[in-house]
Amino acid sequence: MVIKMVDYYNGRILLQPNEVPKEWVNILPSLPSPMTPLINPMDGRPAPPEMAFAIFPKECVMQEVSQDPTIPIPNELREIFANTYRPTPLHRALRLEKDLGMQGDRIKIFFKNESCSPTGSHKPNTAITQAFYARKEGLDELVTETGAGQWGSALAYGCNLFGLKCTVYMVRASYFQKPGRKILMRSFNAEVYPSPSNLTESGMNFLKQDQEHPGSLGIAISEALEHSMRSDKIKYSLGSVVNFVLLHQTIIGQEVKIQLAKIGIEKPDILIGCMGGGSNFAGLMIPFAKDKIEGQNQNMKIIGVEPRACPSVSKGEYRWDFGDSSMKGPIIKMHTLGHTFVPSPIHAGGLRYHGMAPIISILSNNRIIETKMHHQTEVINAGLQFAKAEGILPAPESAHAINETIDQALKAKENNEKKVILFNLSGHGFFDLLAYEKYMNGELREYELPTEQIQKALQSKEMPKIDESQF
Ligand SMILES: *Cc1c(COP(=O)(O)O)cnc(C)c1O
Repeated sequence: MVIKMVDYYNGRILLQPNEVPKEWVNILPSLPSPMTPLINPMDGRPAPPEMAFAIFPKECVMQEVSQDPTIPIPNELREIFANTYRPTPLHRALRLEKDLGMQGDRIKIFFKNESCSPTGSHKPNTAITQAFYARKEGLDELVTETGAGQWGSALAYGCNLFGLKCTVYMVRASYFQKPGRKILMRSFNAEVYPSPSNLTESGMNFLKQDQEHPGSLGIAISEALEHSMRSDKIKYSLGSVVNFVLLHQTIIGQEVKIQLAKIGIEKPDILIGCMGGGSNFAGLMIPFAKDKIEGQNQNMKIIGVEPRACPSVSKGEYRWDFGDSSMKGPIIKMHTLGHTFVPSPIHAGGLRYHGMAPIISILSNNRIIETKMHHQTEVINAGLQFAKAEGILPAPESAHAINETIDQALKAKENNEKKVILFNLSGHGFFDLLAYEKYMNGELREYELPTEQIQKALQSKEMPKIDESQF
């Protein structure tokens, strides 16, 4: 492969619109231990497909359990990606390398830039796809919940592309404290309600207890699910954790493979991503992890990074648990801190989920991937170092991956190793400026989740007991 200098201008490796990948990579048939089913909370047995069909767009349910090793991305959808923001650039972080004192070409740091999507994160990759399938199925509306608003704004944008109605139940505390994302959602025609709301029965029950209830993601999920039952033209949409969402995100890693090949790099030595529900990390690494499982790239390190305040894989247990805190949704086998876990108010709102995608959990059990944890103070510090060097203020979530990348690069330098390190920049931080301001003012606190608190949540009577011999 001839390396053209032009590919390295500004350290950016760009692809043409017609190079949007033709397929998603499905890891299910390659997993070293089999995928676990979603369990119906009503009877403790695997949820029948009809149940899932009633909740999610049909095509997504098929993809959730598909055993095909790759799934074609419909041409119509590829065209929409090409006309909007894909492929996204792969950057070589030349100024960050220099800042870290890297000499010569022994250590190369790359990042995939998902922050340049219309809503500023990787989430439109699945939001657009789900809206596309919903429109094809003849639905009128998608409904979802959102915490800080990243997912809500991605779905609002996706629905608006296809003329679908979008309803978002937004955790009440965020609705009032972080109006930016709400305004963005409404700019894309979404209807946004503070949750708990008086539009659903579950919402009204919580409002009865407390007129000023701050809400939670669990309550917002219950409201969105209840709302979706109003009509068979309305379905529910999820932004992470489930298999089909991770599948849609593999477009990221597929592009990275093409981009690295263009500059003559066969494979990275270390892949890094932050983990909330696991979708952006999975999207980057699944195409590479599949090769690793099949015996290639055995030495590749694949690292998922969690906040010390919410270390679901690093410190949680692998067991059956509810996906939501109001125990209405399916029961999932995953690494979990317990659905009663109340996260500390760290700024990386997207990483405050109690569980983890089952695919990530299985890959971690089989040591295909490893995990690391960081404190939010060191994370924001790393985010600022990256911003100064590369000119992009990262989302606090993405700054977890940056923190680990810097650590790995410095370690490799110390050991005089030759390494290609690549991380996913899952989003920009323009709606998270408060986190940076607090850090600058010395007001940012460290939270470490105490082991006793994890034990307490996992011993809760509310943890489901599932008898696997029954299915
Ligand atoms: C939502 C979000 C995350 C976490 O979600 P995953 O499903 O783990 O990717 C990470 N980064 C950004 C910018 C997000 O918006």
